[in-house]
Amino acid sequence: MADERCKVVLLAGGVGGAKMAEGLDGLDDIDLAIIGNVADDAEFHGLWVSPDIDTVTYTLAERIDRKQGWGVADESHRALSVLAELGKDAWMSLGDRDFGLHIYRTERIRNGDRRSEIAADVAKAFGVKSRILLPTDDILQTQIKTDPGWMSFQEYFVREACRPDVQDIRFEGAEKAQATPEALAAIAEADLIVIAPSNPLVSIAPILSVIGMKQALQAAAAPKIAVSPIIAGKVVKGPADRMMASLGLEATALGVARHYADLADAIVIDRQDAALEASVEALGLRCIVDDILMKNREDKLRLARFVVDCAALPASRRACA
Ligand code: GDP
Ligand code: CA
Repeated sequence: MADERCKVVLLAGGVGGAKMAEGLDGLDDIDLAIIGNVADDAEFHGLWVSPDIDTVTYTLAERIDRKQGWGVADESHRALSVLAELGKDAWMSLGDRDFGLHIYRTERIRNGDRRSEIAADVAKAFGVKSRILLPTDDILQTQIKTDPGWMSFQEYFVREACRPDVQDIRFEGAEKAQATPEALAAIAEADLIVIAPSNPLVSIAPILSVIGMKQALQAAAAPKIAVSPIIAGKVVKGPADRMMASLGLEATALGVARHYADLADAIVIDRQDAALEASVEALGLRCIVDDILMKNREDKLRLARFVVDCAALPASRRACA
């Protein structure tokens, strides 16, 4: 029998993306494909590390360190301590269990396997029900310009703890990064496309920078709903608000709406930002007001249900309403 479930595509970064992914993954009546962010990827100690994809994978595999929101639960750092002893930089926290995954990934990349195939196999082996897709199999890396000059995303995010002011952002490799056929097919076949409450500038923007991705999203028949990562002018976590402000964008849910105005049909903002509703709608976006802070699994499931239900899909596709 044909799968009657509503096909949902989620564009997601790391921690904020994984929260939305967990909510959607928990709904039995949808078929979820997550297009993750590979632009935080970097090589450490000869191994290819893919932090945002792994955060989503570990979350859906129920292996995540719940307190941190990233990394593996019940983790130790003995391999890293040996590397530090041997004089290697150890500012990028990589746990022992985590290292196992990076070794596996790196070996398969060296064998010539596609990165998206490896990500899919890892998700499957870890028991993840939803599909985890990569936007591209090519190398795409965010770089951040600060006062001393350009640095890699992880140098800015982890080593410098997001302290420097961000003057510019670029995605190295974007001019050559081809979209994966899996991501393009998922977008074309989707009944609903959700943009997670992830950092718009360094989690969602790199996905959109891949050749053909923005066009595929614009051409998709599915409604596109974004969830704001900013509540009452502040992030829940991370540097998105400071990044937006230093790049001349308004660090509010309205600023997020403006940023997505040419892509999304609707945006979900928090009740605390209800006063922004008219300004959001003036941008030509439907504005949906709800509680969008996800503190626990119940919050995630409730918000996911709400987003799916308010997609107002055409009658023929109301499998999920
Ligand atoms: P990262 O790659 O780990 O930095 O994570 P993302 O880019 O996916 O998400 C970071 C964004 O998630 C931040 O801007 C946070 O404000 C946002 N965020 C985290 N938790 C929540 C939440 O519970 N609700 C909403 N609306 N946003 C959240
Ligand atoms: Ca990230």
